[in-house]
Amino acid sequence: MTIAEAAEPLGPGGPTAPATPPSGDALHRVIEAQRALACAEPDADGIFALLADLARSVLDAEGALTSQPEGDSLVARATTGSVPVPKGDVIPLAGTLGGLAVATRMPQLCRDGRVDPRTDPEINRRNGTLSSVVVPLVHDDEVIGVVAALSSRPDAFDETDLALLAMLADVAAHRLGHALARRAAERVIRESEQRLAAAQQLTGLASWTWDVEKDRHSWSEQMFRLVGLDPSAEPPNLDGFLRLVHPEDREASRRLAEGDLRARDGQQEIFRVIHPDGSQRYLQAWTEIERHADGTARKVWGATLDVTQREETTRALAAGEQHFRVAFDNAPIGMSMISLLPGQEGRYLRANDAFCAMLGYSPDEITSLDLQTLTHPGDLERTLDLFHRVSRGETRSVSVEKRYLHRDGRSVHAWVTSAVAQDAEGGPLFLISHAMDMTDRRKERAELERLALTDTLTGLANRTLLGDRLDQALARLDRRPGACAFLLLDVDRFKLVNDSLGHQVGDQLLVEVASRLEAVVRADSTVARLGGDEFVVLTEGLDRPEDVHPVTQRLLEVLRRPYTLEGSQDTLVATVSIGISFATTADRSPTDLYREADLALYRAKDSGRDQYAVFDDDLRARAVARMEAESLLRRALADDLLVPVYQPIVDLTEGRITAVEVLARIRDGDRLVTPDAFVDVAEETGLIVEVDARMFELATGQFARWRATPGLELRRLSANISARSLEDPSFVERMRRAMTWFDVPGSAIRVELTEHSLLTSSPAAHQSLRRVAALGVGVGLDDFGTGYSALAYLQRFQLDFLKIDRSFIARLGRSARDDAVVSAVIDLAHAHDLIVIAEGVETREQLAAVREMGCDRAQGYLMGRPMEADAVAALIAGRPTW
Ligand code: C2E
Ligand code: CA
Ligand code: CA
Repeated sequence: MTIAEAAEPLGPGGPTAPATPPSGDALHRVIEAQRALACAEPDADGIFALLADLARSVLDAEGALTSQPEGDSLVARATTGSVPVPKGDVIPLAGTLGGLAVATRMPQLCRDGRVDPRTDPEINRRNGTLSSVVVPLVHDDEVIGVVAALSSRPDAFDETDLALLAMLADVAAHRLGHALARRAAERVIRESEQRLAAAQQLTGLASWTWDVEKDRHSWSEQMFRLVGLDPSAEPPNLDGFLRLVHPEDREASRRLAEGDLRARDGQQEIFRVIHPDGSQRYLQAWTEIERHADGTARKVWGATLDVTQREETTRALAAGEQHFRVAFDNAPIGMSMISLLPGQEGRYLRANDAFCAMLGYSPDEITSLDLQTLTHPGDLERTLDLFHRVSRGETRSVSVEKRYLHRDGRSVHAWVTSAVAQDAEGGPLFLISHAMDMTDRRKERAELERLALTDTLTGLANRTLLGDRLDQALARLDRRPGACAFLLLDVDRFKLVNDSLGHQVGDQLLVEVASRLEAVVRADSTVARLGGDEFVVLTEGLDRPEDVHPVTQRLLEVLRRPYTLEGSQDTLVATVSIGISFATTADRSPTDLYREADLALYRAKDSGRDQYAVFDDDLRARAVARMEAESLLRRALADDLLVPVYQPIVDLTEGRITAVEVLARIRDGDRLVTPDAFVDVAEETGLIVEVDARMFELATGQFARWRATPGLELRRLSANISARSLEDPSFVERMRRAMTWFDVPGSAIRVELTEHSLLTSSPAAHQSLRRVAALGVGVGLDDFGTGYSALAYLQRFQLDFLKIDRSFIARLGRSARDDAVVSAVIDLAHAHDLIVIAEGVETREQLAAVREMGCDRAQGYLMGRPMEADAVAALIAGRPTW
């Protein structure tokens, strides 16, 4: 074969006729080879390898190569003998016979690579290949491979070789075509399986099939993992599987599995499985069912996913939401959710029963209403302001007492706490509010306030409320000129009603007085009961103080009408006395108003009761004097200005001074203030205790010094003691100590109590009196005759003496009748073993008269005025006789 022949291209019609026909031996080898190919395993790699082997042996070549086209090149699939390229190597299509074979789908023969214009001499030189036979493997009109026999010598092959290899290639291509198709299919399946596995890996999706007819289960590895089994184990059957399922979900799972087979497709369910370690997982399964024509299930395809996390989260959320809903709906206090969304701000999104009941709406109605409509107009501005502050995030929550509007229009007081509910990003979602109905509490509070401010018996204002009203009334005088009148009322002789008819009747009388008072006075007046039988009517807005007179007249008139009370058959006649004080300026003090009215009331009582008296200039002067007296008294006690003076007492039998009565004075500069200026105040204020004690101590000390003075004969000291002092628990002890200290025996001392004070004194005073008597001190009655009491009655105090009041002495000698009274008193006193002293003896006639009547002692200006110690001592030392 010449180079020129070899260089001759092969036409598209097929190989040219071989130069020499194949020998019988060669044919035999080809047929053997074709059989070998036909029986080969349907596997592309095996066919490529077998073909390479067969090509080399059939053509008796140095080496053979099978390759597969892939893109722009051929990839060596199998090699045998001596070939320049290893398996897997890439052979370019351009410049090679292989490329030509692929392009033309025709077998190619190269006799000498050094001169063949179809090939790249450089490639041939590098490969060391000088001659070759290259045949394409064509299947379904497509080159699926190339087989080549190679030689390092030129002219190693001819057309016969070409024909033989073409015959082999024909069979091989057929076999390979199927093998490749199968492999492609397998690859597709494998790839999709890989993709599925990867997807399952990613999603945690597990797959399984259940061949219902054979009851065979096949599970993916993931499926084993999902139920906590070893992937190398055999998948369990349905019962085995159900044993892995949580007992509570087992029946539902079985029903679903069996139900699936009969009925619906595409079921999905969530069930729990218990892993061998005891942990619990939530699985979600989807199933598809393959059925026979009659509908019976052939196969179940399933996919299962672990949804534990999702499930636990949603269950936790649902539980949380459920808790919230239950708490919200059943809360005993009103709860509501209010929108914060723009355009819907203030709308009620939801409200519980308590909230609806509180405002009288149904839950459906509430959601069509908003904050504005349900808020009392008086609280709207403040409510909206707070709402906007909360919705703008200026504050997270607010608590406020506000009024809602009930459906029926009344206001509902509530204590409201609102807070913003936020979304995950912290944005405002809605306002959640709880409202506690305060209406009842306010009623309770109002009731408590009412109780605290009203008198329980009559329902009138009490002292506290009156004080309030009085403060307000006085404050108003600042703004509006005029007068306000303070009327202090006292039921005349109420004690008598109480004592004779009983407290219940007394209470009824007070209730009736209260209701009459309220009926008469103007609505804007305050009627109060201060306690006991004391009432106050506070009238404001008078143009002039005198304007109160008609009202007062009317009050007296109405209260004078007979009372018909339960528990007493007869009608009762009761009257009141009224004292009135006025305020025309705001600087008046309530205490002053009361005190002034009280003074006026005393005057009204003094003037015969059932009338009123106005606190006037005269009373004012007295009040001023009284105030001055009090400050004088306090100053006297503080600065030791209390001075005892002594008035001699003459023994009418002996005709000389045997005793002195100590009388209190206050030193005020040069003058000595007499008791009429301060004793009443001292009694009222209780300062009398200190006055009496100090006087007693001073006098006892003085008396002791006199007793120690030679030539000064004085037997007794007489001291004035108020019953009020006797009520003081330490008073008698103070007396005893003074007597002990100055060593003055009780027999040398007499105490004088006024008839009035003894009659109004308490058991404590009587007790003290007995203790005084026990000290050996004589006890006597002062001012006898002024109290109209029976001596027999007074004698139960075991008196030693009595002093006839000086008003009786002053009338002596004027009429026989007055003389007879004094004479009778003296006789009566003597009949009771009492010493009788006449006081206020100013004239010799009076002295003679009382002496004539058998009076024991006499005292008065005639014998000596009250005087300071030195003076009385000097008088006594002069030994005057009477
Ligand atoms: P009393 O106990 O009846 O005292 C006698 C009062 O009559 C004294 O007034 C005395 O100055 C006055 N008096 C005496 N002789 C005559 C007289 O011939 N004519 C007139 N017109 N008056 C005479 P005084 O000292 O102003 O005392 C007034 C009252 O004050 C006393 O009346 C007595 O009840 C009370 N008092 C005085 N000192 C004390 C005291 O230390 N303690 C207490 N509890 N009361 C006292
Ligand atoms: Ca006296
Ligand atoms: Ca007296």
